[in-house]
Amino acid sequence: MRVIVVGSGIVGASAAYHLATAGAEVVVVDRSDQGQATAAGAGILFPWVMPGAPPATAALGKAAVEHYPRLIDELVAAGVDDPGYARVGSVLVTEDRAALDVVHAGLVEISRQPGMSGLGEIELLAPGEPAARFPPLRPDLAGVWAEGTGRVDGRVFRDALEWVATQRGARRRPGSAALLIDGSRVTGAIVDDETISADAVVVAAGAWSSLLCEPVGMTVPVFPQRGQIVHLALPGRDTGAWPVVQTLSDHYLLAFPGGRVVAGATRESDSGFDFRVTAKGLRRVLGDALSVAPGLSEGTVAEVRVGFRPFSPDGIPTIGGSDRVSGLVVATGLGPIGLTLGPYVGAAAADLALGRTVHLDLEPYRPDRPDTTPAVS
Ligand SMILES: Cc1cc2nc3c(=O)[nH]c(=O)nc-3n(C[C@H](O)[C@H](O)[C@H](O)COP(=O)(O)OP(=O)(O)OC[C@H]3O[C@@H](n4cnc5c(N)ncnc54)[C@H](O)[C@@H]3O)c2cc1C
Repeated sequence: MRVIVVGSGIVGASAAYHLATAGAEVVVVDRSDQGQATAAGAGILFPWVMPGAPPATAALGKAAVEHYPRLIDELVAAGVDDPGYARVGSVLVTEDRAALDVVHAGLVEISRQPGMSGLGEIELLAPGEPAARFPPLRPDLAGVWAEGTGRVDGRVFRDALEWVATQRGARRRPGSAALLIDGSRVTGAIVDDETISADAVVVAAGAWSSLLCEPVGMTVPVFPQRGQIVHLALPGRDTGAWPVVQTLSDHYLLAFPGGRVVAGATRESDSGFDFRVTAKGLRRVLGDALSVAPGLSEGTVAEVRVGFRPFSPDGIPTIGGSDRVSGLVVATGLGPIGLTLGPYVGAAAADLALGRTVHLDLEPYRPDRPDTTPAVS
């Protein structure tokens, strides 16, 4: 069976890995667009789904969190030295002590639910303790510690999945894909001037997925949300074990080995595919970072990354095909938590393409689900 995977971000790479592992003939097509979300993503892996997330996202989150460690073990067994993952914990910081108590109680409650032991230890930290773990932080801040939070380098993890897929026979075809349709069946893809036939096509084209599916009459509820994110260099600092820092806003910090600290990120839903670093975006990200971590002020701005999160208006990912167009599986819409959900969603897409059962009710994620977007008044 031949399957084309369009897109080699985290979702496509995972689909290719699972398809090749199952023995399918796989062709991965990728256009290397500027703004691939996987290449820009911060890399925070919370082992819980935020309260208030739609129930469908929460169910997917639980499946994804269980899938991650299994996949990491598989990659290591397949010969990957370092898949780019580490369990570093996280600390939520704020000046609002009452809010800390609420967050602490909420996380303790979640950690007691069945299957949530991955959260590890949850602890209230006195003022100064967060800064002992993440030294650039203000020393007056107290916090809530969650031991189970992970960190992943999305580029490294994506490349690891692709490398193993390639070892198992997957072929990479750089280029821009258009879907090939015969009647009501997708029969392959046209990549630049090459026609590639296939038994199934997985669309894992991130924020571009709706553009790809539109010509075959399929509407995919996804649009680009720009994220600008800053990488700071702190030469000589041993940052490898520093935890993720959360705040009560969208703002966060995390660190990678080699003196690299990442400050994120803007959420710009009206950006379209405008791949630019803006003065307003940079001011926002750096201003937020320095307000909680003034110790970063002497860091060097090493890089600013821009990525387009594949956002769905109702906040629910899209996984599945269409009754009107057969041979097509769409997997996208993971928004701000795609590095967390992506490996599992890619696996589910692979199963659908192969005609296998997926052990999660995929009804809520159908591309043609009823529009549940909250009305704006
Ligand atoms: C700033 C930022 C911070 C983030 N932080 C986190 C985080 O901390 N934790 C977390 O879990 N998630 C995070 N995310 C979200 C996460 O990065 C994304 O949800 C996820 O990477 C989406 O992956 P994807 O494979 O669906 O799409 P993408 O990674 O965007 O990949 C899509 C690919 O499809 C290709 N493509 C599109 N159309 C075509 C075509 N016609 N032909 C060929 N190729 C095509 C593109 O070139 C691209 O390479 C963040 C995102 C951003 C932008």
